[in-house]
Amino acid sequence: MQKDQLFTRRRMLLAGAALGAAGTAGAVLAVGGDEPARTAAPVAGPQARQALKSSAFRLQPLTGYGPPRAAPRKLKTRHEPIMSISGRGRHMMLTFDDGPNPEYTPHILDTLARYDVRAMFFVCGECVVENRELLARMADDGHVVGNHTWTHPLLTTLDRKEIRSEMERTSDAIEDSYGERPQWFRAPYGAWNRAAFQLGAEMGMEPMAWTVDSRDWTTPGEGVIVDRIENGAAPGVVVLSHDAGGDRSQTVRAIREWLPHLLDSGYHFTVPRRRPS
Ligand SMILES: [Zn+2]
Repeated sequence: MQKDQLFTRRRMLLAGAALGAAGTAGAVLAVGGDEPARTAAPVAGPQARQALKSSAFRLQPLTGYGPPRAAPRKLKTRHEPIMSISGRGRHMMLTFDDGPNPEYTPHILDTLARYDVRAMFFVCGECVVENRELLARMADDGHVVGNHTWTHPLLTTLDRKEIRSEMERTSDAIEDSYGERPQWFRAPYGAWNRAAFQLGAEMGMEPMAWTVDSRDWTTPGEGVIVDRIENGAAPGVVVLSHDAGGDRSQTVRAIREWLPHLLDSGYHFTVPRRRPS
């Protein structure tokens, strides 16, 4: 999205603020044990600790229209987003924002598949409806999809009704293409406000921020992206990259380097577990 570039300055400021906060009081998502791809969401209750069979990751058949959408389970409203994950061992979480994009997302999915790694994709509704097959592939590959609004606006400039529409339409589009409603939400530019936290909780979504921003959207060169992610690697870190919103060929090439390096260094990559269906 071109508008990403318009907000570059603000985005940098907000990203910096998010990083600073992550080092101090950022909320933590607890992950369980040493097993990759097993994460307990703190608000999901005892059932979150129940082992998920692999069959629970399968997509429901897509009918186009089916039973009325189930009312989402309302969550407790947070006052700050989750910025890192906790748990034993060298666990990290990878997140990719602003897609899906037909030019870049498939390459990132290929690399993740090659190393059998699961990630989170925070998608925009307007991209989802044009690339539904990529959401279906994310479901098949075991990735977790989160809501990143419909048009990627700065939510702090919108009224509550507009924010609700941005979030709700996107959750609908995700459900139609991915097979289930998202349980995670990320505000564009990391610009959260009270309405976003409240509406997300009403729609059954936890707010997820990040710890390390690769700032790949500034296209600094793939070497710089690799260095930022490898230098930022640490247990509990949530990494932010982008698979859309501009030329992301550097991001695509960088992950082919840093992912095997981090795996060789003993890191595991985890995603929040889905609720049993
Ligand atoms: Zn974004």
